[in-house]
Amino acid sequence: MIVVKFGGTSVGDAEAIQRAADIVKGRLDRQPAVVVSALGGATNSLLAIGEQSAKGHLIGALRGVETLRERHFKQCEKLLGTSPEAAEVAAEMSATFDELASLAEALSVLGHATPRSFDAIAAFGEQLSSHLVASFFSLRGLPAEYLDAREIFITDDNFMTAEPQTDAIAEGARDLVLPLIQDGKVPVMGGFIGRTADGITTTLGRGGSDYSASLLGAALRAEAIEIWTDVDGMLTADPRVVKGSKLIEQIRFDEASELATFGAKVLHPNTIAPAVRLGIPVYIYNSRNPNGKGTRITFDAPRRAVSAIAGKSGITLVKVAAAKMLFARGFLRRVFEIFERNGISVDVVATSEISVSVTVDDPSGLESLVVDLSQLGDVSVERDRAIVAVVGAAISEDSAAMGRAIGALDGIKVHMMSLSATGINLTVIVDGDQLNPAIERLHDAFFSQARK
Ligand code: ASP
Ligand code: MG
Repeated sequence: MIVVKFGGTSVGDAEAIQRAADIVKGRLDRQPAVVVSALGGATNSLLAIGEQSAKGHLIGALRGVETLRERHFKQCEKLLGTSPEAAEVAAEMSATFDELASLAEALSVLGHATPRSFDAIAAFGEQLSSHLVASFFSLRGLPAEYLDAREIFITDDNFMTAEPQTDAIAEGARDLVLPLIQDGKVPVMGGFIGRTADGITTTLGRGGSDYSASLLGAALRAEAIEIWTDVDGMLTADPRVVKGSKLIEQIRFDEASELATFGAKVLHPNTIAPAVRLGIPVYIYNSRNPNGKGTRITFDAPRRAVSAIAGKSGITLVKVAAAKMLFARGFLRRVFEIFERNGISVDVVATSEISVSVTVDDPSGLESLVVDLSQLGDVSVERDRAIVAVVGAAISEDSAAMGRAIGALDGIKVHMMSLSATGINLTVIVDGDQLNPAIERLHDAFFSQARK
């Protein structure tokens, strides 16, 4: 049994849905259960409809509904043509869009929308896409069976970021999904959406379809989860920065999480944690390049010294130096209490006997922080810095890799450096305009052909 999830771009139009059908067809012997996102961009459009309605801009909201209706009908026509299924799906879609329009009207009368109303609206995207995909799969000869995901993904009532109830989901998977698979069917359901025990529609938060796929995989104890998207997988560096960046065929979960914090947008590892924790591997594949190797994410992939180079700019560096704090106890505690009191979260830290340097992601609210910190010593704030991260589970054990990393930075001014004992990450703070050169050099040091 495997879970195959298609993201918004992988079901974005008729051609994409055809590719998805071929992908599933090639995997029938592995007993796939399919989870789909809304058509790419549909969730944004739906949320915009909700916002317009809540502001009382009914005309704009209804225009949004019509645009979305046309888009879905056009793809439906391309996919189903004049088959008997087409009329059925079109009628159903029509009813769904009428319902959406009524909801928009109701909200615009109220002039107000709650998170619960936004979920009611956002959920239309996955309801529509899963119906359409299931119908097309059937037409293509796949034994597809549509399931209303909300009957399986039971959540709490934290609307817009609802917490899944794993026991209830396990029950739903056992009672509704498993029998279909055992019967040789391919269940097709929307990701992202769920409902409370009382039957109110919820969503798991933006990008939540990966989470749905992972929850389903965990509930079914699937052999693997495949996330089909529009990139080949995770890469050794951002390809916009490094031309020769390479696919990472296997990566550890903690390394993937680290990369996500540096903006690797492929997926958010937290969303796949439920499956990976059970030892279920998660693969990322490109639906436009279905024969690619993809990236396999597991808890226990081999520990490499360096798996990828990442970085981000717009970092602020705050330094506190307090000569009279030499040997004083509680200095660090006081420093961090001040950060906490000011609601500022700290990323990278380096200390010496009398000073501490920290990086801050979000430079807002620093003024009052600086006033407070000044009571401890001299404070300096350096804006426009960048963090470069050399990510690898075994980096701290490999002295040659450390040497190579530092050597690669020859000539680049380093403001701060940090490595924790169990660290999977050597972080270096450089000037903002040195971010890309530093990434390129480090990437070259670890991944260029000449070194292999
Ligand atoms: N359609 C939802 C979103 O755009 C969920 C997903 O695609 O994962 O956030
Ligand atoms: Mg996504």
